[in-house]
Amino acid sequence: MRSFFPPQRILMGPGPSEVSQRVLQAHARVTIGHLDPSFQSLMEETKAGLQVLFKAPDHVCLPLPAPGTGAMEAAIMNLLEPGEVAVIAINGQFGERMADMAERAGAEVIRVEHGWGEPIDLRKVEAALWARGAKVLAFVQAETSTGVHTDPGPLCALAREHGALSIVDAVTALGGVEVDVAGWGADVVYSATQKCLGAPPGLAPIAFGPKALEAIAARKTKARTWLFDVSLLMGYWSGVGGRTYHHTAPINAIYGLHEALCVLFEEGIEASIARHRRCHEALAAGITAAGLEFLTAKADRLPQLNPIKVPEGIDEAAVRARMLATHGVEIGAGLGPLKGKIWRIGLMGASATPLSVRTCLTALTQALMAEGFEVSLKDVLSAVEARLADG
Ligand SMILES: *Cc1c(COP(=O)(O)O)cnc(C)c1O
Repeated sequence: MRSFFPPQRILMGPGPSEVSQRVLQAHARVTIGHLDPSFQSLMEETKAGLQVLFKAPDHVCLPLPAPGTGAMEAAIMNLLEPGEVAVIAINGQFGERMADMAERAGAEVIRVEHGWGEPIDLRKVEAALWARGAKVLAFVQAETSTGVHTDPGPLCALAREHGALSIVDAVTALGGVEVDVAGWGADVVYSATQKCLGAPPGLAPIAFGPKALEAIAARKTKARTWLFDVSLLMGYWSGVGGRTYHHTAPINAIYGLHEALCVLFEEGIEASIARHRRCHEALAAGITAAGLEFLTAKADRLPQLNPIKVPEGIDEAAVRARMLATHGVEIGAGLGPLKGKIWRIGLMGASATPLSVRTCLTALTQALMAEGFEVSLKDVLSAVEARLADG
């Protein structure tokens, strides 16, 4: 075998996003034991950092050794017991995944279906919550498969009114748009390192609120997961004066997450959100100048995930392949019913910069020209510069 050296890329898809040298170098620091006192203080700092980032001072926050899907599984398997009712709002691939998991937990799942590209409809969710005593309401804040944003506040309030616990998928949201767990009164919220947090994939920050922990303590059956059983995990992540071995934390990955949190707090959470918005607006100006359209209505758009309709007669995959070959720019394809119909341009974390907006639009415009689409690179780039100059 030979060493693997990855090619140079600019990651502008649905995740993973760019990782800075600073965060990569943190991963390269020497490995120590996971029960070493200095590693335990790193764990404490990481937990505290996540509480600040989630705005969840009363929640237990920790990073699970898993991609975002692991945190989704942790939320669902811990909160649901066989026979309990879960209302799942579905408006894209990740809502579908939650419903599948809730079925595997043995729950009775009430699916509240929406078209892909539509925001979640409060009235439809409310009607489902009236149906039967639901234990859980679960939904996705930032649907990465469609680029749709849903405001979690009103949905969490609805869950509370009906005595249900809320699960919010904030995988793509955290760091890119407002996440305010305490303000929403959300019970379980989770994310992942490789979207807007600027670290490689592999860890999934999750926050469990007091009501969720009470419900977990009152379970009649064991959670259908061992690795992600919160009651067991807490002995490892919060055992005061002596932690019990549960699993071996991915030590170097936690160095990386800790460094990514340092970077984020130096910039400021609000400033990071503003940067995502500003880059999105510049990208949107270029997209419009190119004669392309968004899949989503303006009010529902996520800055960090831009779904762009593929024009009639253009080979969707050929455009992506050319962008990768000529500029090293990776963008995403459509999923499920949107396959072949949209491109997904990510502006997440360290990928949300004016430089990557310019590079991505240059690569896209040239690839479209090669496909015979009429577009002026000069017009596209001047629209971007005009928008950026606007602030
Ligand atoms: C990426 C993503 C996930 C899954 O995360 P993985 O790290 O790929 O397992 C879940 N929900 C949403 C909204 C996502 O964007």
